[in-house]
Amino acid sequence: MSKVAHYLQEHVLGEVMTSVDARRYFSTDGSIFTLTPSVVVYPRNENDVRKVARFTWQLAERGRVLPITARGSGTDQGGAAIGNGIMVAFPAHMNRVLELDSKTGVVVVEPGINYGKLQQTLQTHGRFLPPFPASLEYSTIGGAVANNASGEKSVKYGDTRAFVKSLRVVLANGEVIETGRLNKRELNKKLGLSTLEGEIYRSIDTLLEENNGLLSKLRLGTTKNSAGYDLYDIRTKNGFDLTPLFVGSQGTLGLVTEVTLETEPYNPSTTLLVGYFDDIAKAGKAVLELRGLSDSPSAVEMVDENLLNLVEKLNPNHLVDVISKPYPKLVMLVEFDEGSDRAQKKLSKKARKIFERHAKDFQVATDEAEKEKLWKIRHAAASVLAHSEGNSRPLPVIEDGIVPLSQYSEYLKGVYDLLARNHVTAAVWGHAGDANLHLQPFLDLGQVGDRQKLFRIADEYYDLVIGLGGSTSAEHGDGRLRAPYLAKLYGADVYALFQKIKQVFDPYGTLNPGVKINVTSEDIKPLLRHEYSLGPWYDHMPHS
Ligand SMILES: Cc1cc2nc3c(=O)[nH]c(=O)nc-3n(C[C@H](O)[C@H](O)[C@H](O)COP(=O)(O)OP(=O)(O)OC[C@H]3O[C@@H](n4cnc5c(N)ncnc54)[C@H](O)[C@@H]3O)c2cc1C
Repeated sequence: MSKVAHYLQEHVLGEVMTSVDARRYFSTDGSIFTLTPSVVVYPRNENDVRKVARFTWQLAERGRVLPITARGSGTDQGGAAIGNGIMVAFPAHMNRVLELDSKTGVVVVEPGINYGKLQQTLQTHGRFLPPFPASLEYSTIGGAVANNASGEKSVKYGDTRAFVKSLRVVLANGEVIETGRLNKRELNKKLGLSTLEGEIYRSIDTLLEENNGLLSKLRLGTTKNSAGYDLYDIRTKNGFDLTPLFVGSQGTLGLVTEVTLETEPYNPSTTLLVGYFDDIAKAGKAVLELRGLSDSPSAVEMVDENLLNLVEKLNPNHLVDVISKPYPKLVMLVEFDEGSDRAQKKLSKKARKIFERHAKDFQVATDEAEKEKLWKIRHAAASVLAHSEGNSRPLPVIEDGIVPLSQYSEYLKGVYDLLARNHVTAAVWGHAGDANLHLQPFLDLGQVGDRQKLFRIADEYYDLVIGLGGSTSAEHGDGRLRAPYLAKLYGADVYALFQKIKQVFDPYGTLNPGVKINVTSEDIKPLLRHEYSLGPWYDHMPHS
């Protein structure tokens, strides 16, 4: 055991491991990259996390930078949950519900809690956490907060950031802070502190003041965004709050040890409309009109013809009795979850009219079994991810772009052109109501040609979304994969501001370095894996 591991073992309550197996397990996440940690720590409590941070801070003061990477379940698709220093794995012990107020719906949890389990608990109280990712069964709340995750219900309810009320965060030097909205008096108190916390409040306040004119550049014309740091929502007319900045910061500004979340009333009785389109431009018009309704649908999802063909190839029975051939170019699923039947009927009537105008066909379902059957069309995407064709398999390289709603059909066309130009296939699915597409081209990481092609495809794709006024990431975060495109996305002046923010929180660069900020494409190329697998989560995924 190394000196570092030995020291940590003596000082923390949780387990410290350096075995080859443990380090190998944590050397990959859901991304195409690999990096092996030198030590794995399973903190028992916040104090353990503080001790790890304080230790690396003291080492850094003496000139040795030992990175800390926070880890939930490691499903991150951009390589944000791997690192070559200390891996702090939260799910083992820091996984409890600490408080749940069933009247207000406010819940306080530790970050390592499994998202799906929390969701089940909330539902028994008639509540739910709407921005859940598709990976909820095998990911954590800490990961969702750090990535600003979102999913099929975000079209109506918003992203994770909209639900985080406050956080407890261990800073780079081991201090703990509690975030939340501060009024002027409370802010002044923070500004006067002689600690790192005080230094952070003073510096952020000054940086925001000096760069006020830049902040509007952070507002892209998209409905969601997980790229960069959210500096826009810190100072509002309601006060000053660092919470939105930590949400989406991917462990690069601090380690979250407690999360206070708002929730929504849960209504499982919904109305589902399924529209079938052969004209992408008409699908684009339908999306805009659906988003223009007085009350938003609770989901506007899509899958394309490639996905349906692939699912049929993998399991010819999966979609029998659900959708018949020839498959349409695009299927759109629209759901309403209003509390009253009357409101649902009124909205579905309006959605029907939209489908009558633009879809070649559509159907409406309120029966539970029928709805479940129809949702299989969308949820089949998970089985495609687990599939391989020879040595080629779907790889998360260009899986999370988003554009302004008005550019939805241009975006889809651009994606199909890109796939054809590069002679690759991919199923396309995602959140049509947010113009947020998911796609993973089939490539073979064992082939030199594909390894080069992958970065070429990424360059072309991120140019496409940036060119359409979109963001490189709607919900998965920058990680390592998309970090090199951040300066292009926001411009050099905003990027320089991000660098200053990172410097304020993490002056020695111990917090998840190589993620989100100060990363070039040359930094990430050597980290490319030679194989890719969803192995650790495979048991939780639907098999078709
Ligand atoms: C098949 C599949 C489907 C997916 N679908 C979606 C989707 O629909 N929507 C979506 O948003 N994402 C999706 N993802 C991406 C990912 O699953 C989510 O973003 C998820 O919320 C990450 O949680 P995790 O526990 O796996 O986090 P990890 O992968 O372990 O970590 C993610 C990031 O969070 C940081 N982190 C973790 N815990 C802490 C902490 N306590 N303090 C500070 N930082 C921390 C890590 O350092 C890392 O930067 C999908 C991934 C897969 C493989």
